[in-house]
Amino acid sequence: MLILHKDSLQEIYAHCDGAYPNEACGILAGRDGRVETVYPMTNAEPSPSFYLIDAQEQFRVMKQMRQAGEDLVGIYHSHTGSPAYPSATDVSLAYYPEAHYLIVTLMDRAHPAARAYSIVDGAIAEVEVRIHSEEYR
Ligand SMILES: [Zn+2]
Repeated sequence: MLILHKDSLQEIYAHCDGAYPNEACGILAGRDGRVETVYPMTNAEPSPSFYLIDAQEQFRVMKQMRQAGEDLVGIYHSHTGSPAYPSATDVSLAYYPEAHYLIVTLMDRAHPAARAYSIVDGAIAEVEVRIHSEEYR
């Protein structure tokens, strides 16, 4: 399960919308499937059908996360013209078996939607996304 504060989800949607018509990507950090910090990342190869998290930025964020005691909970990216389902490329480039891959679809740009998956050895399994509005963050 991927647990997200509704403000975090809005932050992700805003980032994805801002990158439109290219894909946006970012890192979700926290603990036990619970997202505490959203790190919007630079798509190093901006394209409407591809993303590559900027390697230097990722290195810097991973270090920041370690210092904050956060784990990698997930990786998000947007699909600008296709459903929120992993593409063949997404599956072949899923290097983090422990991460949840959150995919935002902007097919209906005014109404973004997101779904999450685990991708392990080429096998896709949908993961429940739970949105909450508790104050703790
Ligand atoms: Zn994708």
